[in-house]
Amino acid sequence: MNFDAYARTGVDLVNARLDDLDDLRAVFPEEHGWMRDEVAERDVAAFRRAQKRLRDVFEFGSAGRDADAVTELNSLLENYPVQPRISGHDAKDWHMHVTSRGASVSAEYLAGAVWGLSVWLCEYGSARFGLCADDRCGNVYLDTSSNCCRRFCSERCATRSHVAAHRARKRAAVEAKTPAPVELTVAEMAPASVG
Ligand SMILES: [Zn+2]
Ligand SMILES: [Zn+2]
Repeated sequence: MNFDAYARTGVDLVNARLDDLDDLRAVFPEEHGWMRDEVAERDVAAFRRAQKRLRDVFEFGSAGRDADAVTELNSLLENYPVQPRISGHDAKDWHMHVTSRGASVSAEYLAGAVWGLSVWLCEYGSARFGLCADDRCGNVYLDTSSNCCRRFCSERCATRSHVAAHRARKRAAVEAKTPAPVELTVAEMAPASVG
């Protein structure tokens, strides 16, 4: 089983909007097109519940709460057990499913996602479960950087955040050069600019 691909389905779910059934359908990867056809309204609530619990795992991991991340994943593994089975939707493309025949779409998707994230944690450690440092974003990610230093979910967030920080520094520099206010506090009486 490609646990890495399954782990990524967990990330995709946590980062997804789940307002309605169409949002949920958009979460399923291309190779699981059957899920789009079979998913039902009742699955939305199950996905939302699991989404919250999976987010907790990332929050525990990124906060250094390793034991809590493991406890939550073990509890999720109990709720969404893996039961491998060979399946073929039109009997010529045999492939693995991770739940038994007749299982709901939520059971199938979540068993795979939870399994993938659990193996990922054992392989790389919970410290590599990350929350985007841009607080307007809120996305989670799996840190695959060589030195475990990733802080953003995407290039987009990293760039946006760096641009904002750059502008803030520039603004601060401009303000430091403007004439001193009439009423000076002790701190403001220090020389406004050096060099
Ligand atoms: Zn299938
Ligand atoms: Zn982000």
